[in-house]
Amino acid sequence: MQRLKDKIALVTGSGAGIGRAVAKLFAEEGAHVYLTDVDGEAVTRAAAEHSARGHAVTGMTVDVSRGQDVSALMRTIEKAHRRLDVVVNNAGINVRSDFRTMSDADWVRLREVNLDGIIRIARDAFPLLKASGRGSLVNMASIMGHRGMRTLAAYGATKGAISALTRGLAVEYGPYNIRVNALAPGFIETALTERVLKIKAFSDALLEQTPLKRFGTAEDVALAALFFASDESAFITGAELAVDGGMAAGL
Ligand code: NAD
Repeated sequence: MQRLKDKIALVTGSGAGIGRAVAKLFAEEGAHVYLTDVDGEAVTRAAAEHSARGHAVTGMTVDVSRGQDVSALMRTIEKAHRRLDVVVNNAGINVRSDFRTMSDADWVRLREVNLDGIIRIARDAFPLLKASGRGSLVNMASIMGHRGMRTLAAYGATKGAISALTRGLAVEYGPYNIRVNALAPGFIETALTERVLKIKAFSDALLEQTPLKRFGTAEDVALAALFFASDESAFITGAELAVDGGMAAGL
């Protein structure tokens, strides 16, 4: 199916993991996808793979924590298309740290990417989403915005803020017919979780708490992003969808 036929979509952090899977699915569904990542080599590789499949993509190196990168990205899209139909505000990092000894530098880096970056993209994409006439902004939150776990308190704080931002922007952007929703993945197998999921006792304990008894894949999250991006969710805004195998539903 071509659920995003002729849509212009931006996916941040799409050189790897969830963002990469989202960009692939969106391109398969007919969108022209702006693949962006701080990792320039990953962007070039992913863009070349898409082009070989005949997909319409544009690759750009963009660090969402740098205002000038984001401005240049929006100017490029403005010049080429004058609008943006879908934004998946996905780029994020994790810094695992005992909260009591976390350095200022670690916190600042986490905040600069997971919060400042998400806010900057959501703000600077507004004129182009408005020009679409039916824009969709999808923010990547997390189960960690709603549940606590040792070494993830600061990361969880950034993700909880993204959930709050999503509700606020749904109200503010709604009159422009821009829908704003969030995804709250549980444990998804990507580079972000690779190291901890290799610790057997830890991964066994997580699976014990996951009703579907498996970890998620990047493709699981991409399918949920497609729902929010497409007109199938035309009357849904301010919502957050858990993609966690039921983990957050349990005690
Ligand atoms: P990942 O590390 O596999 O991929 C993240 C991508 O973002 C990488 O390509 C990386 O280079 C890029 N990136 C990092 N900093 C960036 C920056 N400043 N500017 C632009 N790009 C940048 O991670 P992932 O698991 O795919 O995570 C994607 C998003 O999903 C993140 O926001 C993460 O917090 C969220 N999330 C992931 C999980 C999980 O279990 N993997 C769970 C909940 C939420």
